Amino acid sequence: MTLNQGIEKFQTQVFPKRQEEFRRLESGQSPETLFITCSDSRIDPNLITQTAPGELFVIRNAGNIVPRPGVGELSVEATIQYAVDVLKVSQIIVCGHSHCGAVTGLLNLDSLESMPAIRDWVKRSEALLERFRDGELSLADAIRGNVLLQLDHLREYECVQRATAAGDLQLLGWVYHFESGEVDFLNETSLAGFNIA
Ligand SMILES: [Zn+2]
Repeated sequence: MTLNQGIEKFQTQVFPKRQEEFRRLESGQSPETLFITCSDSRIDPNLITQTAPGELFVIRNAGNIVPRPGVGELSVEATIQYAVDVLKVSQIIVCGHSHCGAVTGLLNLDSLESMPAIRDWVKRSEALLERFRDGELSLADAIRGNVLLQLDHLREYECVQRATAAGDLQLLGWVYHFESGEVDFLNETSLAGFNIA
């Protein structure tokens, strides 16, 4: 099905049945969750969380990276600020995934020599490599560690610090496996050697 055919099917078959639900969205949005995930086409945030339009505020980029605040990545920084300060989301989920190309690239920076934009972007997670400088880092561990690193970066945002201190916001790390449908819910013990504050 082409995208245009998809739109036609949505407008003629899906929308009429859910008209009321879509009309209600006109009055504004109040999502509970900021969902930060990879641009990878194999992830469908609404499908895997079974949420409807209006329920997830979403940031997507290669590698579900949250640059540290103040480094000039205003697209991500502004969206986090809006989610926390204006929408007052109660949770931020960083969701990595199996077989992530961006994390694979991070582990093989030399392979990105001819793609400087990608190389410089994934290097926002370079601290992950530094933490494991002395040991071999598997792709699966790097994917987990990359999620945990982004949670560390989130904790550096002033708006996040304020909201978590007030008990209004929690930060969660997930890894989604598209080949099995499973989701790993990460915590401080998810990755040996990864010291999470
Ligand atoms: Zn990815």
